[in-house]
Amino acid sequence: MAKKQLTPDEFSSLVARLNKLSHKVSSLELNDLVARLNKLSRNLWWTWDQEAQEVFQELSPRGWQNLYHNAVAILHEVSEYELRVRLQERDFAGHVQQVLRDFDDYMGEKNTWAAKHAPQFAKNPVAYFSAEFGFHETLPIAAGGLGILAGDHAKSASDLGLGFVGVSLFYREGYFQQAFDANNWQTEYYTLLNPKNLPVEPVLNDKGEPLVCEVDIGMSRVFFQAWRVNVGRVPVYLLDANRPENEQHARDLTLRVYGGDSTTRIMQEVLLGMGGVRLLRALGVQPSVFHMNEGHAAFLTFELIREQVAQGRTLQDAIAVTRKHCLFTTHTPVEAGHDRFSPDLMDYALHRFRTQLPEVFPALMALGRVKPDDPHEPFCMTVLALKMSRAANAVSELHGRVSRHMWHCLYPDQPVEKVPIGHVTNGIHLLGWMKGTVRRFWRRKLTGPAESPAAPAGSTTRFWQARPDYDWATEMQLPDFWEKLQDEKFVTDEELWALRYRLRRELLEFTRRRLLLQQQRVTHGDFIAFDHLLNPDALTIGFARRFATYKRAPLIFQQIEKIVQLTRDQARPVQFIFAGKAHPRDDDGKRYIQHIIHLSKYSDLKGHLVFIENYDVHVARQMLSGCDVWLNNPRRPLEASGTSGMKAGCHGGLNLSILDGWWREGYNGENGFAIGEDSHPDSVEEQDRLDSANLFKALTEEVIPCFFERDDQGVPRRWIRKIRQAMVTLVPQFTTHRMVREYVEKYYLTK
Ligand SMILES: *Cc1c(COP(=O)(O)O)cnc(C)c1O
Repeated sequence: MAKKQLTPDEFSSLVARLNKLSHKVSSLELNDLVARLNKLSRNLWWTWDQEAQEVFQELSPRGWQNLYHNAVAILHEVSEYELRVRLQERDFAGHVQQVLRDFDDYMGEKNTWAAKHAPQFAKNPVAYFSAEFGFHETLPIAAGGLGILAGDHAKSASDLGLGFVGVSLFYREGYFQQAFDANNWQTEYYTLLNPKNLPVEPVLNDKGEPLVCEVDIGMSRVFFQAWRVNVGRVPVYLLDANRPENEQHARDLTLRVYGGDSTTRIMQEVLLGMGGVRLLRALGVQPSVFHMNEGHAAFLTFELIREQVAQGRTLQDAIAVTRKHCLFTTHTPVEAGHDRFSPDLMDYALHRFRTQLPEVFPALMALGRVKPDDPHEPFCMTVLALKMSRAANAVSELHGRVSRHMWHCLYPDQPVEKVPIGHVTNGIHLLGWMKGTVRRFWRRKLTGPAESPAAPAGSTTRFWQARPDYDWATEMQLPDFWEKLQDEKFVTDEELWALRYRLRRELLEFTRRRLLLQQQRVTHGDFIAFDHLLNPDALTIGFARRFATYKRAPLIFQQIEKIVQLTRDQARPVQFIFAGKAHPRDDDGKRYIQHIIHLSKYSDLKGHLVFIENYDVHVARQMLSGCDVWLNNPRRPLEASGTSGMKAGCHGGLNLSILDGWWREGYNGENGFAIGEDSHPDSVEEQDRLDSANLFKALTEEVIPCFFERDDQGVPRRWIRKIRQAMVTLVPQFTTHRMVREYVEKYYLTK
C-alpha cells in the first residue's frame, strides 16, 4: 500500500498541469474540496451518513474493504493528486459537494431539540465519562455493550444538539483481536492503532503543540495528552499516557482496554476520573453535570472534591458541592462487574494524592465502603459513585428493581423501594446501526404519502426529492414514521419479504467470506465448500455478544440431538450463526466458545452452525441485519438491559429472548418471541434447566412453524405481521434519541 511520495516541487508542477487541464472545477475550489473532505474524514458523522461513506468507498472500493471502512486511511491511500484528478469528474464532484453541504448543514443546525429544551448545556455541557466508547469498527476501543452504548449516547447527543463532551482513554492497542489455536482455544493478539490513520485529532495548546496535562497516580506524576474524536457536533476526548516524560509502566496505562491486573485497572481509573477532570479544566470546559457511565469513572469525584478543598471549603461542603454536579449510571447486577480495590491498593494508587490531602483522605476512603467505619472493607467504585451522585439510575425497569435491592445496604433506613436508583432503559443510535441498503429502503418507502404499488419504480418524483428541506433523519425518530408499517400501502408483505431475503443473502455471503479467511489460517482443517456453506432459505438464528458466562451462549445446544434434528429438516431448515469474544482471563467463557466451534466443525451440526471470529461492530451490523431471529438467553436478571436485540428491529429481525432487561419492556406478545415467563426460579440449576426447555419449546412451537407457514404466494404472512409489529412498537422506542432525551429531562435538568 506504499505510495510514491512526490517532492513539493513535483507536486506543485503536477497541480499546475492539472489546473491547466481543468475546465470544470477551479483550483481554488479543488483546494477547498480536498480540505473539506479531509476534515469530514475526521468527523464520525460519516459513519452514520450513507452518502458520505459512499464517497470514500468510490474513491477506493477495495481499500474501503481492506482498510475496514476507514475514511481517514482511504484519504492516505489515495494521493492528493489522485483525489484532485478524481474531483474533475463531474458526477463524483457533485456527489462530494452534496455530502459536504449535508455535513455543513448538520454542523450548523441551530434549530435542534436541545436548543429548545436544554439550551443551558451549550455553555456548560454534560461531561460524560466512560472507560470505553464504541463508535465504529475503525476505532476498536470498546470491549462490549457498555462502550457501544456510550458511543451511541454521544451520537444522539450530537443529533439532538445537546451540549456534551465525552471523556475516555486512548488505548493504543485497543481491545484484543480474537484468534484460535489448533484446539479452538481463544488466543488474543493486539495491533497498534496509529492515530494518524484514525478519525481522531490531537488536542493542541496555543503553540500548536500537544496539550500535556498531569495527574498523580501511585508514586508518580503521570503526564498525558489527548485525542479528540469529533462525533458530529460533540467532542469526545481520549486521554493518552504514552508520553516520553513518563516511565514505561505509566505509558502503558493506556495500552489496552481493561488490560493488566487490578493495579493497572485502578491506575487507569485514576487517569480517567481525575485526569479527565484536569483535561476539561485545561480546555476551559466547565461542565454543569458529570455523568459517570459505570463506576470506572468515579474517581472524578475525588478530583472535584480536591478542587473544592483547595478553594478553602471544608470537606463536608466540598462533598456537598460535588454531589450536586454528579450523576451515575450503573450497568450490571453481576458482582464481578463492580470494581473493588483492597485498602492497600487504594493507598498505593492514590499515594501522592493522599500525601497532599492527609487530613481528609480517611474520610474519602470511607466514601467507597458500605460500612464507613470498617477500614478493612474493600473500596467499591459503585459505592463511591452512588454516594457522590445527586441521582443514580439503572438501565431497565427490572434492573432498577434489582439494583435497589442490591444497594439497599447503603440506605438501611429506607424501605427498599425508596432506594434512590431509578432507571432509563438503554437504546441504540438508529442511523448508525441501520445498514445502508435498509436506510434507502425506508427512506423511499416511508417518507411522504404512500406510493401506489402499481406505479413503476422511479416513475414519480418522490416526496422527499421534491422537498429538499425534508429532514428524514429526524422524522425517522418519530413513532408516526414507523406507524406507517401498519399500512400495506406503504410497504407490501412481498416487499418486506424480499428485503429479508436480500439481507439474509448479504449475511450469508459475508459469513462465507469470513469463514474462508478464518479457514486459511488453519493448515490441517477440513475443507468446506464455502460457496455452498449455509442455506439462503433456512431460518437463520443469530447469537453474538461477549461470552460472559451469565449470557449462556451454549444453552441451546444442551438438547443437541433435538437441535440436530431441526437443522436436518429439509422442509423447514434452521441454521445458526454465532460470534463473540471471551475476556482474555475468562477461561469459562473460552470453554463455551471452544465447545461451539467444536460443534460447528465436528458434530452433526456441521454446515448448519458457524462461528464468525473477531466479533465487532461490523460483524454485529451484518449479523443483526441478516438474521431472522436474534437469540438472547441470559440468566435472568443478570442482563441489565442488553442492546444488540434492538439493532435487529429496523432490519426486520425478530427477537427470541428471555424476559430480561429491555425485552421485558419491549415484548408485547406479538412483536417477537419470549422464552419463559416474567419470573425466574431462585436456583441457578433449576433456571438453566427450565430456560433450556422453554427455549426449545418456543423454537419448535412458535418460531419455526410461524416462519415456515407460507401462503399460495410463498409469503409467511404471520411472520411478516410480527415484523411489522416489531417495527411499529420497538424501533422508535429503543433508541438513544429517546434515551438521551430521558436523561436530559429526568436527570441532567433536575437538580
Ligand atoms: C450491541 C453490541 C453489544 C451489546 O450487545 P448485548 O446484546 O447488549 O450484549 C456488544 N458488542 C457489540 C459489537 C455490539 O454491537
